[in-house]
Amino acid sequence: MKFNTKLIHGGISEDQATGAVSIPVYRTSTFHQHKLGAESKWEYGRTGNPTRNALEQLIADIEGGKYGFAFASGSAAIHAVFSLFSNGDHIIVGNDVYGGTFRLINKVLKRFGLEFTVVDTRDQQAIEDAIKENTKAIYLETPTNPLLKISDISEIARIAHMNNFKVIVDNTFATPYNQNPLTLGADIVLHSATKYLGGHSDVVAGLVATADDELADELFFLQNSIGSVLGPDDSWLLMRGIKTLGVRMRVHQENAQIIFDYLKNNKKVGQVYYPGDPDGEGYEIAKDQMHGFGAIISFELKDGLDPKTFVENLQLVDLAESLGGIESLIEVPAVMTHSAIPRDIRLKNGIKDELIRLSVGVEDPEDLLDDLKQTFASI
Ligand SMILES: *Cc1c(COP(=O)(O)O)cnc(C)c1O
Repeated sequence: MKFNTKLIHGGISEDQATGAVSIPVYRTSTFHQHKLGAESKWEYGRTGNPTRNALEQLIADIEGGKYGFAFASGSAAIHAVFSLFSNGDHIIVGNDVYGGTFRLINKVLKRFGLEFTVVDTRDQQAIEDAIKENTKAIYLETPTNPLLKISDISEIARIAHMNNFKVIVDNTFATPYNQNPLTLGADIVLHSATKYLGGHSDVVAGLVATADDELADELFFLQNSIGSVLGPDDSWLLMRGIKTLGVRMRVHQENAQIIFDYLKNNKKVGQVYYPGDPDGEGYEIAKDQMHGFGAIISFELKDGLDPKTFVENLQLVDLAESLGGIESLIEVPAVMTHSAIPRDIRLKNGIKDELIRLSVGVEDPEDLLDDLKQTFASI
């Protein structure tokens, strides 16, 4: 089955009890067990729910894995995955990961005795230098948030497996439409499904997939033990979103290309960050490991131009955190999504105060361009 067909017919494509084409919302916390002590497929809603299960099969399928797990948020998914590790384990982390992931690492996980080394995962030497005897995993994003840096997943997997540790990729920005880390050698892929997978800015959810039997057993145990599972209503909503991922991504990316061309030739714009920029540093790797370049563009306004005025004067594009919805969303990382990172570290990582991140939606591109033009005229 090809990818776009899998989005619609993958996983469990009809309800096994009734044949319903749309998997019903099984809004139940428990299931009748007909024989005392006999194994039954469904027992308790945290452990398993048929609606959630259909979603979990679907993410496994579209990521090229065997097992899927759905969580109450991307952050809950990340927490469950890090819970694979124990006091004294060492994990290498990309230096440009989601702000909330940094917060989880620094303010929560370190309290439980996990050790972390932060590296630029584009730099293979830096990764090799960071490896210790107790290194158990490398955790990375590609493209990163918000600077869209590209790391070579196959190459990192080669280094990791040679040194006997796991590769975990947060694939939120690329989506399974553009990139399948498991088929590139990663052991675990995860998503904030709140973004492109849901796609309509109406659900908060997280997904994990793996093809590894042993990791899947552990993840199932952790999902059930920690209990941060996705409810059946949100599981249904997410499946509904995923069915149109292909059609949405095609338009997202067409629009992003148009906006990128406009920004790249705009005199009020400094650096533009987009994986599809042929002059960009990660372009060749992106072209190799991704099927498309996504629809997030970050850019800096030229010195002295105020990002506050720029984003507040937009009429159509929403000033909001999050990304990946059908509506175009814009934000200033230094003030919004990345404000939890101390300013000196943020600047060192290249996230300037005048950096703007745009998640290009599926509106008519002429309307988007008109909106950008009028706000550029105002600054
Ligand atoms: C939003 C986001 C997360 C966190 O997901 P939530 O669903 O908000 O908990 C993790 N990683 C990336 C790349 C994100 O964009």
